[in-house]
Amino acid sequence: MRKIQMVDLKGQYEKIKDQVNNGVMNVIESTAFINGPEVHSFQKELEDYLGVKHVIPCANGTDALQIAMMGLGLQSGDEVITTDFTFAATVEVIALLNLTPVLVDVNPFDFNIDTEAIKKAITSKTKAIVPVHLFGLAANMDEIMAIANEHGLYVIEDNAQGIGANYMHSDGSKSKTGTIGHVGTTSFFPSKNLGCYGDGGAIFTNDDDLAHTIRGVVNHGMYERYHHDVVGVNSRLDSMQATVLRAKLPHLDSYNNARRDAARKYTAAFASNEKIITPLVCDSCDCHVFHQYTLVIKDANRDELVKHLQANDIPCGVYYPIPLHLQKAYADERYNEDDFKVTNQLVKECISLPMHTELDDEQIKFITDKVLEFVNR
Ligand SMILES: *Cc1c(COP(=O)(O)O)cnc(C)c1O
Repeated sequence: MRKIQMVDLKGQYEKIKDQVNNGVMNVIESTAFINGPEVHSFQKELEDYLGVKHVIPCANGTDALQIAMMGLGLQSGDEVITTDFTFAATVEVIALLNLTPVLVDVNPFDFNIDTEAIKKAITSKTKAIVPVHLFGLAANMDEIMAIANEHGLYVIEDNAQGIGANYMHSDGSKSKTGTIGHVGTTSFFPSKNLGCYGDGGAIFTNDDDLAHTIRGVVNHGMYERYHHDVVGVNSRLDSMQATVLRAKLPHLDSYNNARRDAARKYTAAFASNEKIITPLVCDSCDCHVFHQYTLVIKDANRDELVKHLQANDIPCGVYYPIPLHLQKAYADERYNEDDFKVTNQLVKECISLPMHTELDDEQIKFITDKVLEFVNR
């Protein structure tokens, strides 16, 4: 059996090697390292893929969130509601901009922001909601947009884990995650579903004015050379990363299908085991792109399971071991433990299994056998 990896970037690279190598060599030969044609082509190709009017590439997914918030003109003291169960980048940029993060609980069934909790958290200072399509599963965007419209709030979708997922609206139509809110963001960190070979990120919007503002923010607040109209940042996707992304984008749907196939096999193996709650996998719908395949382990010791898997050379992850509201940097006396029941429980029971585009049946069987061996003993 091939060695099991949490993410197998080498196996994926082997299949696109010629295109990536040629692309990188061409960038070097052209010396168009920054803002070159590769970046512009990638931007257009991603706009087409997502069905969104504007893609603004930037340096990473954390910058993308920060720039989105700067572009919307959020001001010091404005409250921004987001989920307690996400990677810290989401809340970090809120705090960094002197906005007030308001963390709320998630749903037990999809790990995504709880819309009832959003409603409860809204005050006269609330200006924006940041849903995260956690682990690659679309959050309840119709409901979130309805709440936002009712209260005049912006919605910033953190789509770092969900690129390529289709959200199905209540009328049956579909939109790509990241294109439904006022603005969406993503990360091209190597292990993300669409990853480059370094850092990268992008911002999406259908709003022409906002896109214009953001194009200045990413470039030192310049709209005309050496005229700095607003305080901006320097955040660029470089041409080498763009060329890697151009090689991968045409395969994104098949990459996500490979992840879904692996997820289906995992879920089939765990079906009917009452100690294991598997993530939602529906055959007809492509709302989940399985950035992570995350189980909830009931009545068995999750930490011992981690050790058992490690002892068998199976990598695994705990995303995330500590709720954000209990992190030193984001603790706040306003928070009440009773308001975070789901997250407080999930951090003790969740475990993510290896998930990438190169998993084979033999590996999946070995992994599921070892998980079952532990929970059934
Ligand atoms: C990865 C990630 C980010 C940050 O992306 P970087 O490119 O690493 O800055 C933000 N939010 C979520 C949910 C992520 O998973």
